[in-house]
Amino acid sequence: MVSAIVLAAGSGSRMKSDKAKQFIDINGKPLIYYALKVFEASIVDEIILVTRQQDINYMRDEVVKKYSFNKVRKIIAGGKERFDSVENGIKACDRRNNIIMIHDGARPFVTNAMILSSISAARRYKACTVGMPVKDTIKVVDEEGFGVETPDRSTLRIIQTPQTFDRNVIEEAYRRMRADSRRVITDDTMLVERYLDQKVKIVEGSYNNIKVTTPEDIKLAEAILG
Ligand code: C5P
Repeated sequence: MVSAIVLAAGSGSRMKSDKAKQFIDINGKPLIYYALKVFEASIVDEIILVTRQQDINYMRDEVVKKYSFNKVRKIIAGGKERFDSVENGIKACDRRNNIIMIHDGARPFVTNAMILSSISAARRYKACTVGMPVKDTIKVVDEEGFGVETPDRSTLRIIQTPQTFDRNVIEEAYRRMRADSRRVITDDTMLVERYLDQKVKIVEGSYNNIKVTTPEDIKLAEAILG
């Protein structure tokens, strides 16, 4: 049984808009609608929707009820950092579910195929993420902006969401993270690698699986929708 945590508790400050990012209009629907629609139609058993405290009522009335997202079992408040929001989401998942998927609500182009391959990889390897080969050459730079290293491009992947875990693995990683004072966490797969030495399988994502972050991304998202 699978729980999907969909994150929409960011402030969206890079969007430079009055409206919270998750509610910005993309082809007539709020941004958060697109990811929820894919999870609703998938084999996941429940969706835990994480949003800002002040947006909970709006989310319930203008998104979840309006579009009949019946798998959304809880709408809960997130926290200051992304990892705080994820942790609240994990605590809210049905205890009987042994697979937990974590998805950025700001990625509208997740697909059913990604969800299916992620669930089977998580059953087999306990931790996985969707990702794609990098197209550009990537350099590691120093503080003065000089390149210090150019990793072999064929060994690099851009990492997206969903990221999917065996419940015990992600819970234990979060417990250890809380006990650690130095927290530099931008990603949940990084957490299980760091705290549990747990290997993470990369499954195929898509170059369209963008995170809508800045105003230019809205145009890109509308172009992808066609
Ligand atoms: O800020 P960033 O682009 O990394 O956010 C990725 C996702 O995490 C977004 O869907 C955002 O709403 C969510 N988030 C959250 N709680 C936070 C920060 C970000 O749910 N405190």
